[in-house]
Amino acid sequence: MSFDSLGLSVELLRAINDQGYSQPTPVQSQSIPVILEGRDILAGAQTGTGKTAGFTLPMLQRLSQMQTNGSRRKIRALVLTPTRELAAQVGESVKTYSRYLPLESAIVFGGVKINPQIQKLRNGVDILVATPGRLLDHISQKTIDLSSIQILVLDEADRMLDMGFIRDIRKILALLPEQRQNLLFSATFSNDIKQLANKLLTKPALIEVARQNSASERVSQLIHPVDKKRKRELLSFMIGSENWHQVLVFTRTKHGANRLAEQLSKDGITAAAIHGNKSQGARTRALSNFKQNTIRVLVATDIAARGLDIDQLPHVINYELPNVPEDYVHRIGRTGRAGNKGEARSLVCVDEHKLLKDIERLLKRDIPRDMIPGYEPDPSIKAEPIQKARARKNTTKPRSGGRPPMHAKTNRSHRSQRNTGQNNQRNR
Ligand code: AMP
Repeated sequence: MSFDSLGLSVELLRAINDQGYSQPTPVQSQSIPVILEGRDILAGAQTGTGKTAGFTLPMLQRLSQMQTNGSRRKIRALVLTPTRELAAQVGESVKTYSRYLPLESAIVFGGVKINPQIQKLRNGVDILVATPGRLLDHISQKTIDLSSIQILVLDEADRMLDMGFIRDIRKILALLPEQRQNLLFSATFSNDIKQLANKLLTKPALIEVARQNSASERVSQLIHPVDKKRKRELLSFMIGSENWHQVLVFTRTKHGANRLAEQLSKDGITAAAIHGNKSQGARTRALSNFKQNTIRVLVATDIAARGLDIDQLPHVINYELPNVPEDYVHRIGRTGRAGNKGEARSLVCVDEHKLLKDIERLLKRDIPRDMIPGYEPDPSIKAEPIQKARARKNTTKPRSGGRPPMHAKTNRSHRSQRNTGQNNQRNR
C-alpha cells in the first residue's frame, strides 16, 4: 500500500514525501479514505502509530476543498488535545503537512502568554489546535469563534477525561455547529469514552489498529528486580555500561523526577526533568536538548511525557512503576515507534510487586525478569506502601490507582472544575 492510492492531493503527497515516509501506517491506511469521505470515526490508536498524520492529512485535504464564503478566514477545524506538548506536536504536524496548501493554523495552550496567540488568531486561521482550558479562556475573551467549525478532532480522548476535562469538552461541544465531522481518537475505551462517543459521533467508522491495551510488539520488555535504595546506582550503571545516549526515564512524582535528574547529573550523566511544575519554556528547552542529544536522559512524569514525539527513541526506563497499569503501556509506547525497535526496562523493588502484577494482568502475559549481577535484591527487605503524590489528597475521593473520579459530581463552577483537572495534571 502506498500513499498514492489513498486519494490524497499532490500537495499533501509532496509534504509526505518531504518527511520521507514511504508507506502509510495501518491507522493511516484505514482512517484516511474514511475521513476523506466525510464520515465520523472512532479510532483506537495509541501514540506511535502515526495517528496524527492519520487525521491531519485527510482533514487538510477536506479543508482545502471546502467552499469558503467571505474573504476572512474562519476556524473550520478544531483539534483538542489533553496536554500542551501534544498540542505543540500536533500543531507542528499540521504546519508540516499543510506546507503546500493555502491553509493557516494556530496552536493555543496554557502556561504561555495569551497575547501572541490572540495576535496570531486575529490574522485568521483555518485550523486550531488547542488544549481545552486555554481554548475556553480565549472563548471567554471572545478571541475565538467556533461557530464555523466543520471538523472536530478529539485526540487522546481517554487522557482528556482522565485529566478532568469532561466539563470543558461539553462546554466546547455546545459552541460548535451541529453539522460537522467528528473524529475521536483514544488509546483505551472505558465506559466514559463509549458514552462520549455515543453522544458525539454519527454512524462512525470503527478503526482499531493495536489491540486495546496491548503493548507494541516492537518493544522488548524486561524487569530488573532491585532494592529501592539501589535503583539510582543501577540506572547509572546501565546507562554507562550499555552506553545509552537517549534514555527516557519515568518517575511517579515531580519531586522524584527532579531529584533523579539532579543525582544523575552528579554521576556525570547529563539529565533534565520535565513535569507540570516546570515552565513551558523549561519543558520545551529540555525536550529540544534531549532530541538534539545534548542531554542523555530525560526524566519525566506520566502526564508530562504524554504526547512526546521523539523519533527513534531507543530506551524507556520505568524507574518507578506507574500506579495505573494503562500508564505502563503509554510509557513504553514512547519507544518502538513507527517501525523502529525499542527497549523498555523496569526497575522494580519489593514495594512494587502488586503494581507489576496489575500490569502483567493488563498485558495478559508475564514480563521476563533479568537480575543484574551485583544488584540482586536483599530478600530480608519487606514491602512498604507506596507513597502517593502528596497533592492528590486534594482531589475528591481517589479511585483505584489514585485518579480522581471522571465525573466528580460537584456544584463548583466550570472554572474550578477545570482547575481540578489541571491540579491533578500538575501533580503528576
Ligand atoms: P504519532 O502516532 O502520530 O505520534 O506518530 C508517531 C511517529 O511516526 C511520528 O514521529 C511520525 O513522524 C511518524 N510517522 C507518521 N507516519 C509515518 C509513516 N507513514 N511512516 C513513517 N513514520 C511515520
